[in-house]
Amino acid sequence: MHCPFCRHPDSRVVDSRTADDGSQIRRRRQCPACGRRFTTLETASLSVVKRSGVTEPFSRDKIVSGVRKACQGRPVSEDDLALLAQRVEETLRQQGSAEIDAYEIGLAILGPLRDLDEVAYLRFASVYQAFDSLDDFETAITSLRAEHAARLQGGDEGQVGREAPSETASSPA
Ligand SMILES: [Zn+2]
Repeated sequence: MHCPFCRHPDSRVVDSRTADDGSQIRRRRQCPACGRRFTTLETASLSVVKRSGVTEPFSRDKIVSGVRKACQGRPVSEDDLALLAQRVEETLRQQGSAEIDAYEIGLAILGPLRDLDEVAYLRFASVYQAFDSLDDFETAITSLRAEHAARLQGGDEGQVGREAPSETASSPA
C-alpha cells in the first residue's frame, strides 16, 4: 500500500485492530520515507447483484431505509433498525459468498424483522413477497399465531421451575 502523502510505494503496519464487532480490521500504517501515518480499513468484500444485473456494494444504510418504511408508526427505534441491518449483514456474510442476489437480502430481513415488530414484518413481507390477496396475509398471520402458540407452550421462563420435566414430553404434539 503506497503512502497517500508522498506516494512512496511501501508502508509499514504499526497497529492492527478489529472494529465493528470483528467485521473490519483497521490498520495504522506508517510511511518509511516521510514518516507520516495513515489508516486503512479492511472488510470482506460483499456486493449485491440487483435484478437489473447491476452490482453495487452492500450497504447497511439501504437495509435501514428499506425497512424504515415498513416501520412507520411502529414502536421501532433507529437503534433497532441499525441492529437489524447488522444482523442481516452477518447472516449474508455467513453464507460465505462475495456476491448476493438482492432477493436474498429481502429473505435475510424477514426473520429479524419478524422478531422486531410483527406489523412491520407483515407490511414488508406483503411488498417483498408480492402478496396479492387476503389469503396471503391470512397464511402469514396464521404462521405468526402458530409461533406465538409454540412460544407460550415451549417456555415462559417464570413457569419452567414448576413443570420442568414436562418440557421434553411436550414435543410429540
Ligand atoms: Zn510518505
